[in-house]
Amino acid sequence: MNRVINFSAGPSQMSDKVLKKASEQMLNYNQTGQSIMEMSHRSAEFVEVFNSCKSKLIKLMNIPENYEVLFLQGGASTQFTMVPMNLLGKHKKAAFINTGAWSKKAIGEMKKFGEAVVVASSEDDTFSYIPKDYEVPEDVDYFYICENNTIYGTKYKELPDTKGLPLVADLSSCILSEAIDVSKYGIIFAGAQKNMGMAGLTVVIVRKDLIKDDTTLPSMLSYKVQADNDSMFNTPPTYAIYILGLVLEWIAEEFGSLENLGKYNQEKAQILYDYLDQSKLFKGTVAKEDRSLMNVPFVTGDAELDAKFVKEAKAKGMVNLKGHRSVGGMRASIYNAMSKEGVETLVAFMKEFEEENT
Ligand code: PMP
Repeated sequence: MNRVINFSAGPSQMSDKVLKKASEQMLNYNQTGQSIMEMSHRSAEFVEVFNSCKSKLIKLMNIPENYEVLFLQGGASTQFTMVPMNLLGKHKKAAFINTGAWSKKAIGEMKKFGEAVVVASSEDDTFSYIPKDYEVPEDVDYFYICENNTIYGTKYKELPDTKGLPLVADLSSCILSEAIDVSKYGIIFAGAQKNMGMAGLTVVIVRKDLIKDDTTLPSMLSYKVQADNDSMFNTPPTYAIYILGLVLEWIAEEFGSLENLGKYNQEKAQILYDYLDQSKLFKGTVAKEDRSLMNVPFVTGDAELDAKFVKEAKAKGMVNLKGHRSVGGMRASIYNAMSKEGVETLVAFMKEFEEENT
Protein backbone atom coordinates (compact mmCIF):
# COMPACT_ATOMS: atom_id res chain seq x y z
CA MET A 1 0.00 0.00 0.00
CA ASN A 2 1.41 3.36 -0.99
CA ARG A 3 0.13 5.48 1.86
CA VAL A 4 1.95 8.80 2.28
CA ILE A 5 2.73 10.54 5.57
CA ASN A 6 0.17 13.29 5.39
CA PHE A 7 0.79 16.56 7.24
CA SER A 8 -2.34 18.26 5.91
CA ALA A 9 -4.02 20.87 8.14
CA GLY A 10 -7.44 19.48 7.30
CA PRO A 11 -9.06 17.42 6.03
CA SER A 12 -6.20 15.41 7.36
CA GLN A 13 -4.65 12.01 7.82
CA MET A 14 -6.81 9.33 9.38
CA SER A 15 -5.86 6.09 11.04
CA ASP A 16 -5.50 3.20 8.58
CA LYS A 17 -7.48 1.10 11.03
CA VAL A 18 -10.49 3.42 10.77
CA LEU A 19 -10.34 3.53 6.99
CA LYS A 20 -9.97 -0.25 6.75
CA LYS A 21 -12.94 -0.86 9.01
CA ALA A 22 -15.03 1.59 6.97
CA SER A 23 -14.02 -0.13 3.74
CA GLU A 24 -14.86 -3.56 5.16
CA GLN A 25 -18.29 -2.30 6.10
CA MET A 26 -18.84 -0.22 2.99
CA LEU A 27 -21.14 -2.56 1.06
CA ASN A 28 -22.75 -4.40 3.91
CA TYR A 29 -22.94 -2.74 7.31
CA ASN A 30 -23.48 -5.24 10.11
CA GLN A 31 -25.27 -7.80 7.94
CA THR A 32 -27.93 -5.29 6.89
CA GLY A 33 -27.08 -5.72 3.20
CA GLN A 34 -26.70 -1.94 2.95
CA SER A 35 -24.04 0.68 3.20
CA ILE A 36 -24.44 3.26 5.97
CA MET A 37 -24.79 5.76 3.12
CA GLU A 38 -27.92 4.04 1.89
CA MET A 39 -29.76 3.89 5.18
CA SER A 40 -32.56 6.11 6.33
CA HIS A 41 -31.36 8.32 9.15
CA ARG A 42 -34.48 7.23 11.02
CA SER A 43 -33.85 3.49 10.61
CA ALA A 44 -33.19 1.48 13.76
CA GLU A 45 -29.71 0.58 12.45
CA PHE A 46 -28.65 4.16 11.88
CA VAL A 47 -30.23 5.46 15.10
CA GLU A 48 -28.06 2.89 16.89
CA VAL A 49 -24.94 4.19 15.09
CA PHE A 50 -25.93 7.76 15.99
CA ASN A 51 -26.64 7.05 19.66
CA SER A 52 -23.56 4.97 20.15
CA CYS A 53 -21.37 7.65 18.54
CA LYS A 54 -22.87 10.30 20.79
CA SER A 55 -22.46 8.27 23.97
CA LYS A 56 -18.87 7.40 23.07
CA LEU A 57 -18.10 11.11 22.65
CA ILE A 58 -19.81 11.97 25.95
CA LYS A 59 -17.83 9.24 27.71
CA LEU A 60 -14.45 10.03 26.15
CA MET A 61 -14.73 13.80 26.70
CA ASN A 62 -16.48 13.38 30.03
CA ILE A 63 -19.24 15.78 28.96
CA PRO A 64 -21.45 16.73 31.92
CA GLU A 65 -25.20 16.17 31.81
CA ASN A 66 -26.04 19.84 31.59
CA TYR A 67 -24.54 19.97 28.09
CA GLU A 68 -26.21 19.17 24.79
CA VAL A 69 -24.18 17.47 22.07
CA LEU A 70 -25.26 18.44 18.55
CA PHE A 71 -24.19 16.87 15.26
CA LEU A 72 -24.66 19.65 12.70
CA GLN A 73 -23.54 20.64 9.22
CA GLY A 74 -22.16 23.81 7.67
CA GLY A 75 -18.66 23.49 9.11
CA ALA A 76 -17.15 25.43 11.98
CA SER A 77 -17.76 28.51 9.81
CA THR A 78 -21.52 28.23 10.31
CA GLN A 79 -20.91 28.42 14.06
CA PHE A 80 -19.35 31.85 13.50
CA THR A 81 -22.95 32.82 12.64
CA MET A 82 -24.97 30.51 14.89
CA VAL A 83 -23.14 31.56 18.05
CA PRO A 84 -24.10 35.25 17.88
CA MET A 85 -27.60 34.44 16.59
CA ASN A 86 -28.26 32.19 19.58
CA LEU A 87 -26.17 33.78 22.29
CA LEU A 88 -26.40 37.53 21.99
CA GLY A 89 -28.71 38.88 24.67
CA LYS A 90 -29.30 42.15 26.37
CA HIS A 91 -25.89 43.65 25.58
CA LYS A 92 -25.78 42.77 21.88
CA LYS A 93 -22.00 42.64 22.34
CA ALA A 94 -19.37 39.91 22.55
CA ALA A 95 -15.70 40.01 23.57
CA PHE A 96 -13.01 38.41 21.41
CA ILE A 97 -9.31 37.67 21.54
CA ASN A 98 -7.93 37.96 18.04
CA THR A 99 -5.34 35.25 17.38
CA GLY A 100 -5.54 35.40 13.61
CA ALA A 101 -7.58 34.29 10.60
CA TRP A 102 -10.08 32.02 12.37
CA SER A 103 -10.91 34.47 15.12
CA LYS A 104 -11.05 37.30 12.57
CA LYS A 105 -13.64 35.41 10.57
CA ALA A 106 -15.67 34.80 13.72
CA ILE A 107 -15.46 38.51 14.57
CA GLY A 108 -16.51 39.45 11.02
CA GLU A 109 -19.62 37.28 11.15
CA MET A 110 -20.55 38.34 14.68
CA LYS A 111 -20.48 42.01 13.64
CA LYS A 112 -23.50 41.33 11.44
CA PHE A 113 -25.51 40.84 14.62
CA GLY A 114 -23.95 43.14 17.20
CA GLU A 115 -20.82 44.81 18.45
CA ALA A 116 -17.50 42.97 18.69
CA VAL A 117 -15.16 44.10 21.44
CA VAL A 118 -11.65 42.89 20.62
CA VAL A 119 -9.97 42.89 24.04
CA ALA A 120 -6.57 41.72 22.79
CA SER A 121 -4.79 40.74 19.61
CA SER A 122 -1.44 39.24 18.61
CA GLU A 123 -1.57 40.80 15.16
CA ASP A 124 1.41 43.02 16.06
CA ASP A 125 3.67 39.96 15.83
CA THR A 126 2.08 37.92 13.01
CA PHE A 127 -0.13 36.10 15.53
CA SER A 128 2.85 34.19 16.87
CA TYR A 129 1.63 34.21 20.47
CA ILE A 130 -1.50 34.11 22.64
CA PRO A 131 -2.26 37.51 24.24
CA LYS A 132 -2.44 37.26 28.02
CA ASP A 133 -3.00 40.81 29.11
CA TYR A 134 -6.54 42.11 28.80
CA GLU A 135 -9.58 43.27 30.71
CA VAL A 136 -12.79 41.29 30.60
CA PRO A 137 -15.66 43.70 29.87
CA GLU A 138 -18.83 43.37 31.95
CA ASP A 139 -21.28 44.55 29.32
CA VAL A 140 -20.92 41.68 26.84
CA ASP A 141 -22.96 38.50 26.38
CA TYR A 142 -20.07 36.06 25.92
CA PHE A 143 -16.30 35.73 25.54
CA TYR A 144 -14.87 34.11 22.40
CA ILE A 145 -11.56 32.42 21.63
CA CYS A 146 -10.08 30.20 18.94
CA GLU A 147 -8.34 27.70 21.24
CA ASN A 148 -5.89 26.34 18.69
CA ASN A 149 -5.10 28.47 15.68
CA THR A 150 -4.53 26.03 12.84
CA ILE A 151 -2.73 28.54 10.63
CA TYR A 152 -0.37 30.14 13.15
CA GLY A 153 0.13 27.10 15.38
CA THR A 154 -0.80 28.79 18.65
CA LYS A 155 -2.68 27.12 21.51
CA TYR A 156 -4.10 28.34 24.82
CA LYS A 157 -2.42 26.37 27.60
CA GLU A 158 -4.69 28.03 30.12
CA LEU A 159 -8.21 29.21 29.38
CA PRO A 160 -9.00 32.89 29.97
CA ASP A 161 -10.73 33.75 33.23
CA THR A 162 -13.96 35.14 31.77
CA LYS A 163 -15.31 36.35 35.14
CA GLY A 164 -18.44 34.29 34.76
CA LEU A 165 -19.16 35.10 31.10
CA PRO A 166 -19.89 32.07 28.91
CA LEU A 167 -16.69 31.03 27.16
CA VAL A 168 -17.24 30.16 23.50
CA ALA A 169 -14.34 28.27 21.97
CA ASP A 170 -13.49 27.07 18.48
CA LEU A 171 -11.74 23.72 19.02
CA SER A 172 -11.69 22.71 15.35
CA SER A 173 -8.00 21.85 15.36
CA CYS A 174 -7.52 20.61 18.95
CA ILE A 175 -10.67 18.75 19.96
CA LEU A 176 -9.88 15.23 21.24
CA SER A 177 -6.15 16.02 21.27
CA GLU A 178 -6.05 16.03 25.10
CA ALA A 179 -8.37 15.82 28.09
CA ILE A 180 -10.29 19.03 28.78
CA ASP A 181 -12.74 20.19 31.43
CA VAL A 182 -15.92 20.76 29.41
CA SER A 183 -17.60 22.48 32.37
CA LYS A 184 -15.31 25.48 31.85
CA TYR A 185 -16.94 26.24 28.50
CA GLY A 186 -20.29 27.67 27.47
CA ILE A 187 -20.01 26.40 23.90
CA ILE A 188 -17.40 24.22 22.21
CA PHE A 189 -17.59 23.69 18.48
CA ALA A 190 -15.39 21.96 15.93
CA GLY A 191 -15.45 20.81 12.34
CA ALA A 192 -14.85 17.06 12.22
CA GLN A 193 -12.28 17.01 9.44
CA LYS A 194 -9.17 17.00 11.64
CA ASN A 195 -9.36 14.91 14.81
CA MET A 196 -12.91 13.64 14.36
CA GLY A 197 -12.80 12.09 10.92
CA MET A 198 -14.25 13.53 7.77
CA ALA A 199 -15.62 16.84 6.55
CA GLY A 200 -19.38 17.40 6.62
CA LEU A 201 -19.99 17.09 10.36
CA THR A 202 -19.69 19.86 12.93
CA VAL A 203 -19.83 18.92 16.59
CA VAL A 204 -21.32 21.52 18.94
CA ILE A 205 -21.31 21.05 22.70
CA VAL A 206 -23.50 23.66 24.32
CA ARG A 207 -24.43 24.27 27.96
CA LYS A 208 -28.17 23.74 28.20
CA ASP A 209 -28.98 26.99 29.99
CA LEU A 210 -27.51 28.91 27.03
CA ILE A 211 -30.01 27.41 24.60
CA LYS A 212 -32.67 30.04 24.23
CA ASP A 213 -36.19 29.66 22.93
CA ASP A 214 -36.28 32.23 20.14
CA THR A 215 -38.78 31.27 17.47
CA THR A 216 -37.65 34.10 15.21
CA LEU A 217 -34.39 32.25 14.50
CA PRO A 218 -34.23 30.20 11.28
CA SER A 219 -34.94 26.64 12.41
CA MET A 220 -31.73 25.13 11.03
CA LEU A 221 -29.69 27.79 12.84
CA SER A 222 -31.41 27.45 16.19
CA TYR A 223 -29.68 25.40 18.90
CA LYS A 224 -33.10 24.91 20.49
CA VAL A 225 -34.63 23.39 17.36
CA GLN A 226 -31.56 21.21 16.79
CA ALA A 227 -31.49 20.07 20.42
CA ASP A 228 -35.24 19.41 20.58
CA ASN A 229 -34.90 17.21 17.49
CA ASP A 230 -31.69 15.48 18.67
CA SER A 231 -29.86 16.83 15.58
CA MET A 232 -32.43 15.15 13.32
CA PHE A 233 -34.49 18.20 12.35
CA ASN A 234 -33.33 17.34 8.86
CA THR A 235 -31.06 14.60 7.50
CA PRO A 236 -27.85 14.69 9.51
CA PRO A 237 -24.46 13.89 7.89
CA THR A 238 -24.93 10.16 8.45
CA TYR A 239 -21.69 8.83 7.03
CA ALA A 240 -19.57 11.44 8.82
CA ILE A 241 -21.28 10.54 12.11
CA TYR A 242 -20.55 6.87 11.48
CA ILE A 243 -16.89 7.72 10.79
CA LEU A 244 -16.69 9.74 14.02
CA GLY A 245 -17.97 6.63 15.80
CA LEU A 246 -15.12 4.60 14.29
CA VAL A 247 -12.58 7.28 15.23
CA LEU A 248 -13.83 7.28 18.84
CA GLU A 249 -13.61 3.49 18.95
CA TRP A 250 -10.07 3.68 17.60
CA ILE A 251 -9.04 6.25 20.25
CA ALA A 252 -10.54 4.10 23.02
CA GLU A 253 -8.78 0.95 21.77
CA GLU A 254 -5.46 2.58 20.97
CA PHE A 255 -5.09 5.03 23.87
CA GLY A 256 -7.82 4.24 26.40
CA SER A 257 -8.39 7.86 27.40
CA LEU A 258 -7.83 11.45 26.31
CA GLU A 259 -5.29 11.79 29.15
CA ASN A 260 -3.16 9.07 27.53
CA LEU A 261 -3.69 10.45 24.05
CA GLY A 262 -2.73 13.94 25.28
CA LYS A 263 0.50 12.52 26.71
CA TYR A 264 1.26 10.81 23.42
CA ASN A 265 0.59 14.04 21.51
CA GLN A 266 2.85 15.95 23.88
CA GLU A 267 5.73 13.52 23.36
CA LYS A 268 5.10 13.42 19.63
CA ALA A 269 5.17 17.22 19.18
CA GLN A 270 8.21 17.48 21.46
CA ILE A 271 10.24 15.39 19.00
CA LEU A 272 9.73 18.09 16.38
CA TYR A 273 10.06 21.08 18.73
CA ASP A 274 13.28 19.72 20.29
CA TYR A 275 14.81 19.43 16.87
CA LEU A 276 13.61 22.92 15.81
CA ASP A 277 15.09 24.45 18.98
CA GLN A 278 18.60 23.29 18.15
CA SER A 279 18.50 23.49 14.35
CA LYS A 280 20.71 26.02 12.63
CA LEU A 281 18.51 26.01 9.55
CA PHE A 282 14.89 25.64 10.65
CA LYS A 283 13.14 27.87 13.14
CA GLY A 284 9.73 27.50 14.83
CA THR A 285 7.61 30.65 14.46
CA VAL A 286 5.58 30.50 17.70
CA ALA A 287 6.38 31.68 21.25
CA LYS A 288 7.47 28.56 23.15
CA GLU A 289 4.79 28.73 25.83
CA ASP A 290 2.00 28.97 23.25
CA ARG A 291 3.02 26.22 20.88
CA SER A 292 0.31 23.99 19.45
CA LEU A 293 0.59 20.21 19.72
CA MET A 294 -1.32 19.85 16.46
CA ASN A 295 0.02 22.45 14.01
CA VAL A 296 3.74 23.23 13.89
CA PRO A 297 4.81 26.05 11.58
CA PHE A 298 8.52 26.50 10.84
CA VAL A 299 10.70 28.42 8.36
CA THR A 300 14.24 28.54 7.05
CA GLY A 301 13.99 32.27 6.36
CA ASP A 302 14.69 31.66 2.67
CA ALA A 303 11.59 31.17 0.50
CA GLU A 304 13.50 29.26 -2.16
CA LEU A 305 14.96 26.85 0.36
CA ASP A 306 11.49 26.37 1.89
CA ALA A 307 10.11 25.45 -1.52
CA LYS A 308 12.99 23.04 -2.11
CA PHE A 309 12.33 21.38 1.25
CA VAL A 310 8.63 20.94 0.55
CA LYS A 311 9.39 19.47 -2.87
CA GLU A 312 12.04 17.03 -1.63
CA ALA A 313 9.87 15.96 1.32
CA LYS A 314 7.07 15.18 -1.09
CA ALA A 315 9.37 13.02 -3.16
CA LYS A 316 10.02 11.05 0.05
CA GLY A 317 6.31 10.53 0.71
CA MET A 318 5.79 13.37 3.19
CA VAL A 319 3.05 15.56 1.78
CA ASN A 320 1.20 18.80 2.53
CA LEU A 321 4.07 20.48 4.37
CA LYS A 322 3.73 23.87 2.70
CA GLY A 323 2.88 26.60 5.21
CA HIS A 324 -0.17 28.81 4.99
CA ARG A 325 0.43 31.75 2.67
CA SER A 326 0.15 34.25 5.53
CA VAL A 327 3.05 32.66 7.46
CA GLY A 328 5.09 31.17 4.61
CA GLY A 329 7.58 28.39 5.12
CA MET A 330 6.30 25.04 6.30
CA ARG A 331 3.61 23.69 8.58
CA ALA A 332 3.45 20.14 9.86
CA SER A 333 -0.03 19.29 11.10
CA ILE A 334 0.32 16.32 13.41
CA TYR A 335 -3.18 15.43 14.51
CA ASN A 336 -4.16 12.33 16.47
CA ALA A 337 -3.74 9.95 13.54
CA MET A 338 -0.12 11.02 12.97
CA SER A 339 2.16 8.55 14.71
CA LYS A 340 5.40 9.32 16.53
CA GLU A 341 7.12 7.36 13.79
CA GLY A 342 5.66 9.77 11.21
CA VAL A 343 7.15 12.74 13.08
CA GLU A 344 10.47 10.91 13.54
CA THR A 345 10.63 10.29 9.80
CA LEU A 346 10.03 14.00 9.17
CA VAL A 347 12.73 15.02 11.66
CA ALA A 348 15.22 12.56 10.17
CA PHE A 349 14.63 14.11 6.77
CA MET A 350 14.95 17.65 8.20
CA LYS A 351 18.34 16.72 9.66
CA GLU A 352 19.47 15.34 6.33
CA PHE A 353 18.23 18.47 4.55
CA GLU A 354 19.98 20.69 7.07
CA GLU A 355 23.29 18.91 6.55
CA GLU A 356 23.04 19.23 2.80
CA ASN A 357 21.94 22.86 2.75
CA THR A 358 24.08 24.63 5.36
N1 PMP B 1 -11.75 27.25 12.81
C1 PMP B 1 -10.52 26.69 12.71
C2 PMP B 1 -9.61 26.77 13.89
C3 PMP B 1 -10.15 26.04 11.54
O1 PMP B 1 -8.93 25.48 11.43
C4 PMP B 1 -11.06 26.00 10.46
C5 PMP B 1 -10.73 25.33 9.15
N2 PMP B 1 -9.94 24.31 9.15
C6 PMP B 1 -12.30 26.59 10.60
C7 PMP B 1 -12.62 27.21 11.79
C8 PMP B 1 -13.30 26.57 9.49
O2 PMP B 1 -13.83 25.31 9.47
P1 PMP B 1 -14.86 24.80 8.36
O3 PMP B 1 -14.08 24.67 7.11
O4 PMP B 1 -15.30 23.49 8.94
O5 PMP B 1 -15.95 25.78 8.25
